[in-house]
Amino acid sequence: MTQKTSKECYIVVGAGQAGAVAVSSLRESGFGGRILLVGDEPHLPYERPPLSKEVLLTPATAKPTIFDSAFYSSQNIECRFGIPATHIDIHTHMLELASGEQIHFDKLLLATGARARPYPLLDALGKDALQLRSMKDAQALAKRIQPGARILVVGGGVIGLEVAASARTLGAEVTLLERGDRLMARAAPVHLAQALLELHRDQGVRCVFDVDLVKADHAANGSVQLHSQNGEVFVGDLVVYGIGVHLNVELAQASGLKVEDGILIDEYGMTSAPGIYAAGDVARQWQPQLGRYIRQETWSNAQNQAQSVVRSMLTGLPCDPDLPWYWTDQYGSNIQVAGSIEVDEWVTRGNRPDRYTQFGLRDGCVVGAITFNNGKEMRPAKQLISVAAELSNPELLLDPKQDLRKLVVQSAL
Ligand code: FAD
Ligand code: NDP
Repeated sequence: MTQKTSKECYIVVGAGQAGAVAVSSLRESGFGGRILLVGDEPHLPYERPPLSKEVLLTPATAKPTIFDSAFYSSQNIECRFGIPATHIDIHTHMLELASGEQIHFDKLLLATGARARPYPLLDALGKDALQLRSMKDAQALAKRIQPGARILVVGGGVIGLEVAASARTLGAEVTLLERGDRLMARAAPVHLAQALLELHRDQGVRCVFDVDLVKADHAANGSVQLHSQNGEVFVGDLVVYGIGVHLNVELAQASGLKVEDGILIDEYGMTSAPGIYAAGDVARQWQPQLGRYIRQETWSNAQNQAQSVVRSMLTGLPCDPDLPWYWTDQYGSNIQVAGSIEVDEWVTRGNRPDRYTQFGLRDGCVVGAITFNNGKEMRPAKQLISVAAELSNPELLLDPKQDLRKLVVQSAL
């Protein structure tokens, strides 16, 4: 697209998925002013999903970088990597960096994301307790996953499961400890959590539930020991834990922006201060059609919300609502979940236990979908969710011999 010359300066703080996509969208949409991307990590912006998958499994060929350095120079995007932003004056529109640099902006987008939630009880184990959020974390973890290594994974969320799958695939012995009574309580319905549990158990992972850790220490031989409340002791060489995130909201909070489980933004992506926007994991957006704020911690939200908010910054139009969607890869199985998991019932299309599509129905309408090794059906499933399709012809929908894409195009359901 041709660029309109502008004397304006737009700054994006946070050089992760949302930040990198935002600066590229600004140029793609024709913004011809100054663009600055500020990130506290030293690397070029990279995708995080490969960190628990390819970067552990096939480090030599993993390529998480989003755009190479030539992209930023060719697009005339100024970068400050390895430098945190430290202060925003929301009235004078001045941004200050840890280097002391002060820059005036016309518009600012905060895409500061999240960091792994610390667990001080485990951190006391020093180099034998690792987390996974950054490239640095993934590289440290990759070095420690060896065939036969005894790995204790704490937390049965997505990080825990993906690390368990990668470590097991690489021949480590894996024990997964979950505080609750099921896996993936935040992001998956019970029956999917059960299917994932079976997948892990089939692969030889020991999964233990209702584990409340009270102590972590080293045995005389150097092994790690995790002591649970009921007296059980889990022994290993390394602990990896994923117990959720802490949002990087401190900069926004100290600058006086409204923060409540995320930086609050309106349907235009704007924070409580004019000219200052937010997107990605850190942003909690008002959804007029739902009458509430929503925050998502997914790759697709970071991608789509960044694009949508940039469009609002440039045009003043409201953001498009984004359908929640995430995927996870474990032992070569690809699982995708879209829409809502709060449904009246799940109906299944397909009769193979390792390949199927499920639709979540509420009041007879499709509001959610799961594909299990059946990603080709996710796009039409999302179309059904986006129109809350009412099923007048469920036999057709659930017959795997029928091409779902054609049914959706023909509106035959
Ligand atoms: P982030 O990626 O967290 O980026 C924010 C950046 O801002 C960071 O670099 C941070 O250091 C920086 N920053 C913070 N404060 C400042 C400051 N003051 N100054 C400068 N810079 C700052 N999602 C899926 O849908 N599917 C997956 O398979 C999947 N796998 C994942 C695997 C792993 C290991 C992880 C950690 C996440 C995964 N996710 C996945 C989630 C997805 O990666 C995140 O939702 C996404 O990265 C969020 O992007 P973001 O840009 O909002 O935030
Ligand atoms: P999740 O919130 O998904 O899961 C955290 C898990 O840890 C829950 O099962 C939680 O159980 C458990 N937990 C919390 N506190 C404790 C504790 N003190 N002791 C033991 N268990 C505990 O977070 P993750 O850390 O798995 O993921 C972090 C981020 O990375 C998220 O934003 C996630 O979306 C992202 N990510 C996404 C992936 C994907 O979409 N494929 C893959 C990897 C990461 P309880 O319910 O009891 O609190």
